Amino acid sequence: MRQEIHALQAGANALGFSAGRADGLWGPKTEAGLLALLAAHEGRWGDPVEAMHEAIIDLGYLAAGPVSRVWTPELDRGLRALVDAEGLPRAGAVVEEVMVSPGWGGWVSHEKQVLQGSAGYLVSLFVLHTTATTATWWQGKSNRQMFEEVRGWHLANGWRDIGYHGVIFPDGEVIEGRAWSEVGAHVIGHNAGSLGYSMVPVQTVTHMGKPEDFYTRETLEAMRGVIAKACNATQIRRIAGHNEFANKLCPGFKVEDAAWAPMGWAA
Ligand SMILES: [Zn+2]
Repeated sequence: MRQEIHALQAGANALGFSAGRADGLWGPKTEAGLLALLAAHEGRWGDPVEAMHEAIIDLGYLAAGPVSRVWTPELDRGLRALVDAEGLPRAGAVVEEVMVSPGWGGWVSHEKQVLQGSAGYLVSLFVLHTTATTATWWQGKSNRQMFEEVRGWHLANGWRDIGYHGVIFPDGEVIEGRAWSEVGAHVIGHNAGSLGYSMVPVQTVTHMGKPEDFYTRETLEAMRGVIAKACNATQIRRIAGHNEFANKLCPGFKVEDAAWAPMGWAA
């Protein structure tokens, strides 16, 4: 429960844009209500606007200052950024300078960072996934066909694109999904500031096993390549499996940083 989210839900509800129960938890109803409020151009004034403006300031999406009683374009921008970030507070770390020693006594340049979404989340987490398809699903299909099928499932969720930043196939091909500069939809609560790549298994994932129990060597090598590229181009600080964030098997094994990171990454 987050006080500011509660204020936004209560405010939207009071203005007539149903944001579900005001429970302080971000969810689809909250998002739908706030999007409806953003889309509307009337009925947005009074005490609820004041309370919402304060909440958006507290979450870091608008500068502190006098709060408004009428909805303004500035409020549109702040709320839009907040919705893009799934209601997460804008981390102070995102806008701070990030300096990392590469181990040779100098400093890595800031060009090495990737920021996501209009809120500018610093990419710092890499998450491994499985497409959770069966042992035979991939057979007789081109990689592009499989990619489009996965994308279709995600579009059916109401998402604007495939949720992953890429999918890795049994022959080792990687087809890129969302741009790294876009927030993905692959790990609830950790989408802002993360990259998510999904592997197509050749054995159905039914238990926690070892990577090679479910994926080809080509797939696993390609995943290592993607991770190395990400570690070289972004501020990735953690490499994790989806199962560390949700009660799921995905990707079917425990992800150990050291087994996936490029040489020298931990230094
Ligand atoms: Zn997953």
